[in-house]
Amino acid sequence: IIEVKDLAKNFGKNQVLKDITEQVTPGQVIVVIGPSGSGKSTFLRCLNLLETPTSGEVDFAGENLTTLDTKRVNELREQMGMVFQSFNLFPNMTVLENIKLAPMKVKHVDDATATKRAHELLKQVNLDDHADAFPASLSGGQAQRVAIARSLAMDPKVMLFDEPTSALDPEMVGEVLSVMQQLAEQGMTMVVVTHEMGFAKSVADRVWFMADGYIQENSTPDDFFSNPQTERAQDFLSKIL
Ligand code: ATP
Ligand code: MG
Repeated sequence: IIEVKDLAKNFGKNQVLKDITEQVTPGQVIVVIGPSGSGKSTFLRCLNLLETPTSGEVDFAGENLTTLDTKRVNELREQMGMVFQSFNLFPNMTVLENIKLAPMKVKHVDDATATKRAHELLKQVNLDDHADAFPASLSGGQAQRVAIARSLAMDPKVMLFDEPTSALDPEMVGEVLSVMQQLAEQGMTMVVVTHEMGFAKSVADRVWFMADGYIQENSTPDDFFSNPQTERAQDFLSKIL
């Protein structure tokens, strides 16, 4: 569903992504790990063209994003949900309104349908009792689950997560990871940048280890954690495990 070919991204003289060719197939859960500054966020942002690649190609659902006009890129981007470290909920709207907004505005879904769907999604993230709450009254873990529900409201084909639990207090990490795990079990295609190695081990189909501008290893979690091939990955694992 996503195909990346010879992707490179420079910021000035800084070659962040050097040459990446990988693909994500439908239903796959990819966990991207690697040292800080290795380009994980930049890579994720290239997948939906939030960053313009310096060279190479990003195909999504059979279309080469790098050749499309802005209008078409925006249409396709709607099919890729993205969840960041910071939740970015609209503070002046309730949880329910936050979730209904994009489907109603962008997809012109009617109010009743959007409301019904928003409640279903809130059930899915265990927050239906907070539908009328305002974001400021939520814990970080609750806010992040609302952010996930809000992304899902657009019925994305793929979900991209950039360190979704890094800003949370430790006791809230689990509730967000378990929502993500359920989503994976339902067959959602996901690309997840995370430092949560337990999640990588138990949920990922593939682990992509990124360092020095390349995906150095593309392995099953079992292979990656028990038998990393590159010195770079061995060194990384020795520091975090
Ligand atoms: P972290 O684990 O800390 O989130 P990361 O692997 O996500 O790191 P990126 O945020 O992708 O790494 O950054 C990779 C490199 O690109 C860094 O050297 C960073 O300074 C640089 N960089 C990222 N975004 C920009 C930008 N908009 N302009 C200039 N340089 C950038
Ligand atoms: Mg990052």
